[in-house]
Amino acid sequence: MAKKDKKSWEKLFRVTNDAEFKYAKVDPAATPGLSGREEAAPILAANTARMNELQERLYAEGAQALLIVLQALDTGGKDGTIRAIFGPLNPQGVQVTSFKVPTALELAHDYLWRVHQQVPPKGMIGIFNRSHYEDVLVAKVHHLVDEKAVRKRYAQINAFEEHLQENGVTILKFHLCISRDEQRERLQQRLDEPEKHWKFNRGDLAERALWDDYVEAYQAMLRNCSPSSAPWHVIPADKKWYRNAVISQIVADTMEKMEPKFPPAEEGLDKIVIPE
Ligand code: AMP
Ligand code: MG
Repeated sequence: MAKKDKKSWEKLFRVTNDAEFKYAKVDPAATPGLSGREEAAPILAANTARMNELQERLYAEGAQALLIVLQALDTGGKDGTIRAIFGPLNPQGVQVTSFKVPTALELAHDYLWRVHQQVPPKGMIGIFNRSHYEDVLVAKVHHLVDEKAVRKRYAQINAFEEHLQENGVTILKFHLCISRDEQRERLQQRLDEPEKHWKFNRGDLAERALWDDYVEAYQAMLRNCSPSSAPWHVIPADKKWYRNAVISQIVADTMEKMEPKFPPAEEGLDKIVIPE
């Protein structure tokens, strides 16, 4: 694939035209720019190699952080994405946080309390497997808060992310978009394959029945929380190889733009000889 195509993935999948974004127009099975998995594998490998080098610089520099936010419907591929793209990196530089149903302690605080604590410190890459966006997704679908509160939260989240960006945290947000059919297949697999049984959760069926409500909640959130400084990227994710190639490309390109630099060496190092 031409270099130019890969560079345009970020633009292609970025949500820009806020109020106009239509979820129904996304084709989860689309693979623009790639012909198949054979073409995708070397792209993923090249990107993780690039990320590895850049991560070392980011860590050594200790001045800025990268936060990756992953959101998807059940079986959307968040875990697989983390494994494929961030698995090859130095584990000391990566911090993954999986956000579950809030605990009593978390519920006793405002919803961003638990999130802010997990924002990666300078030098680190942080990955959110689910995130503060659950508080405008599952919370909206299940009416855990009213619509007015949801709308306020969009603004609060935008302000929170702006605050982070102004304080050295680059934010990249990916929604892994799968089709209803693909979800059915993946849930069925969890039933058919004994080693996947642990992943099956009866509750996922109730959530699947609320598919349209989730789509509506996603569409509203994508429209309201995509300022140009921290836009969402909606990635066609039915094909895992495509998802991995595209996300790794956008992450590696973003890390390059962050320009992490090794700190300047202390003066006189060239004169030091380690004694025997
Ligand atoms: P899993 O990612 O499969 O381990 O499931 C985690 C569950 O926690 C999902 O059903 C999420 O919707 C739920 N969850 C995560 N964050 C929140 C939140 N802020 N409020 C309510 N439910 C949440
Ligand atoms: Mg689950």
